[in-house]
Amino acid sequence: MFRNLFKKFQAAPTQGADNDPVCGMPANSAITLTHEGKTYAFCSEDCKQEFAQHPEKYSSK
Ligand SMILES: [Zn+2]
Repeated sequence: MFRNLFKKFQAAPTQGADNDPVCGMPANSAITLTHEGKTYAFCSEDCKQEFAQHPEKYSSK
Protein backbone atom coordinates (compact mmCIF):
# COMPACT_ATOMS: atom_id res chain seq x y z
CA MET A 1 0.00 0.00 0.00
CA PHE A 2 2.98 2.25 0.48
CA ARG A 3 3.78 1.79 -3.21
CA ASN A 4 0.43 3.25 -4.18
CA LEU A 5 1.12 6.38 -2.18
CA PHE A 6 4.50 6.73 -3.81
CA LYS A 7 3.00 6.41 -7.29
CA LYS A 8 0.59 9.20 -6.48
CA PHE A 9 3.49 11.50 -5.65
CA GLN A 10 5.27 10.69 -8.90
CA ALA A 11 2.15 11.25 -10.97
CA ALA A 12 1.86 14.81 -9.68
CA PRO A 13 5.32 16.35 -9.46
CA THR A 14 5.36 19.79 -7.92
CA GLN A 15 8.77 21.20 -8.75
CA GLY A 16 10.34 18.59 -11.00
CA ALA A 17 12.84 17.95 -8.24
CA ASP A 18 13.88 14.60 -6.80
CA ASN A 19 11.90 13.11 -3.98
CA ASP A 20 13.33 12.75 -0.51
CA PRO A 21 14.70 9.16 -0.36
CA VAL A 22 13.94 8.95 3.35
CA CYS A 23 10.25 9.86 3.48
CA GLY A 24 9.26 10.08 -0.21
CA MET A 25 8.12 13.69 -0.07
CA PRO A 26 9.19 16.24 -2.70
CA ALA A 27 12.65 17.37 -1.67
CA ASN A 28 14.00 20.83 -0.94
CA SER A 29 16.84 21.43 -3.40
CA ALA A 30 18.62 23.54 -0.78
CA ILE A 31 19.05 20.53 1.54
CA THR A 32 21.38 18.04 -0.12
CA LEU A 33 23.98 15.44 0.75
CA THR A 34 26.38 13.60 -1.54
CA HIS A 35 26.80 9.87 -0.96
CA GLU A 36 29.16 7.76 -3.13
CA GLY A 37 29.15 10.34 -5.92
CA LYS A 38 25.40 10.80 -6.04
CA THR A 39 23.64 13.85 -4.66
CA TYR A 40 20.43 13.33 -2.73
CA ALA A 41 17.98 16.06 -1.76
CA PHE A 42 15.78 16.03 1.33
CA CYS A 43 12.63 17.73 2.58
CA SER A 44 14.20 18.70 5.89
CA GLU A 45 17.39 18.58 7.95
CA ASP A 46 15.85 15.74 9.95
CA CYS A 47 15.62 13.50 6.90
CA LYS A 48 19.13 14.50 5.84
CA GLN A 49 20.47 13.46 9.25
CA GLU A 50 18.54 10.19 9.05
CA PHE A 51 20.09 9.45 5.65
CA ALA A 52 23.55 10.41 6.89
CA GLN A 53 23.28 7.86 9.68
CA HIS A 54 21.89 5.04 7.53
CA PRO A 55 22.91 5.74 3.91
CA GLU A 56 22.76 2.07 2.85
CA LYS A 57 19.18 1.79 3.99
CA TYR A 58 18.01 4.59 1.71
CA SER A 59 20.40 4.67 -1.25
CA SER A 60 19.90 1.06 -2.36
CA LYS A 61 16.39 1.24 -3.70
ZN1 LIG B 1 11.79 13.90 4.30
